[in-house]
Amino acid sequence: QHSNKELLNQQEQRESNARSYPRRIPLAIGEAEGIYVTDMDGKKYLDCLAGAGTLALGHNHSVVIEAMEKVIRDKRPLHTLDITTPIKEEFVNELFSCLPEEFCERAKIQFCGPTGGDAIEAALKLVKTATGRQSILTFQGGYHGSTHGTMSISGNLSPKKKVQGLMPDTHFLPYPYTYRCPFGKGGEEGHRLSSTYIENLLDDPESGVLPPAAMILETVQGEGGSIPAPIEWLQEIRRITKERGIPLIIDEVQTGIGRTGKMFSFEHAGIVPDVFVLSKAIGGSLPLSVVIYDQELDCWEHGAHIGTFRGNQMAMAAGTASLNYIKKNELDRHAEEMGNLLLQSLQQQQSDFPEFGDVRGRGLMIGVEIVDPTHAPSSSGSLPANPELASHIQHECFKRGLILEVGGRHGSIVRFLPPLIITEEQVKEVVSIFKDAVSASLK
Ligand code: PMP
Repeated sequence: QHSNKELLNQQEQRESNARSYPRRIPLAIGEAEGIYVTDMDGKKYLDCLAGAGTLALGHNHSVVIEAMEKVIRDKRPLHTLDITTPIKEEFVNELFSCLPEEFCERAKIQFCGPTGGDAIEAALKLVKTATGRQSILTFQGGYHGSTHGTMSISGNLSPKKKVQGLMPDTHFLPYPYTYRCPFGKGGEEGHRLSSTYIENLLDDPESGVLPPAAMILETVQGEGGSIPAPIEWLQEIRRITKERGIPLIIDEVQTGIGRTGKMFSFEHAGIVPDVFVLSKAIGGSLPLSVVIYDQELDCWEHGAHIGTFRGNQMAMAAGTASLNYIKKNELDRHAEEMGNLLLQSLQQQQSDFPEFGDVRGRGLMIGVEIVDPTHAPSSSGSLPANPELASHIQHECFKRGLILEVGGRHGSIVRFLPPLIITEEQVKEVVSIFKDAVSASLK
């Protein structure tokens, strides 16, 4: 049995420098169950990173394990390319039973490679093929993956600077980040300005923006810093795109499958996109991704989008079991309740900690934006980002057995993404550890 240190040293020597989580969280995981992981030295941690939002049912949930064991017991094929099987049929039925009714009748599904980025790539190719256009409208601060195409439409500039030849004709629009409003106005006025700006841009023949193949967005920016778009803004965007015949792609890779308090996050706004993408939690913790889209866009010719690993059988079996459990136990509603409890508890701490510039979220996708309160606020009321303190807080949490992610555009948002099964007691534990960690970081 190796120690934490031994495994971390080996990794440092052999693995690529590109890895990022182990740099911020120096951990080697031995075992895991529910919302806890145990490191190689036997120390237990509460896992509020949960595979960056993948582990809806936590680690090694019994229904997922049983589904996987059944695949083996029944001698089901582990790999079939995209040839159909009863396991696949069951998965599609289960997933379609979760879709909003009016969309279900028109929906088509495409299985993609194992990661979210794969499915976003497929969605981009789909809308480009269907519309015969190439321009993509996307949002500042958005994150859609790490491949050439998905990186091209993601906001973060630093990884792009070193990779030449990304996808041309991508236009970045202002996201309604109400705390740091791109128009310098906070609150409602800020997000109204954002949708008006977008509408004007699309209607201005001199804007330089070609008729787009699609607009893509996250309803809550995840990697961008747990930023929920206001509901009215989402409705406005749906109206604007629909009126102009622009397909709307919603990236539900992180927000999907109950995380925000609804099965799909667009349901909060009562809207339906033309295309949406699922990954992370869809495979019950195994790698799987799909694109779901309006059949009107189904322009693919045979073989137009292929690949060896399209819908792994084990992942589909685990995904069916997980979806079924989420639905039966109304874990979307539970996520909303636990999310509200966590959000309110963190907001209550704002009076003690002026370093909490903004505490926000939707469901169990919550962020605390860490700022420097010694400066004067900007015109929108925001304070300068404080990534050093955010990172210090993450470290103090880690020392106390709580794993949290730090991210966002300025690296100053502490993010909470616990499994959906988190209990009230565990939420209270998270809040209490976090408070101690913040106090210790400020000493
Ligand atoms: N879209 C969103 C919203 C994501 O959060 C992520 C991953 N964090 C991706 C796409 C890319 O998914 P993957 O890392 O599985 O390629």
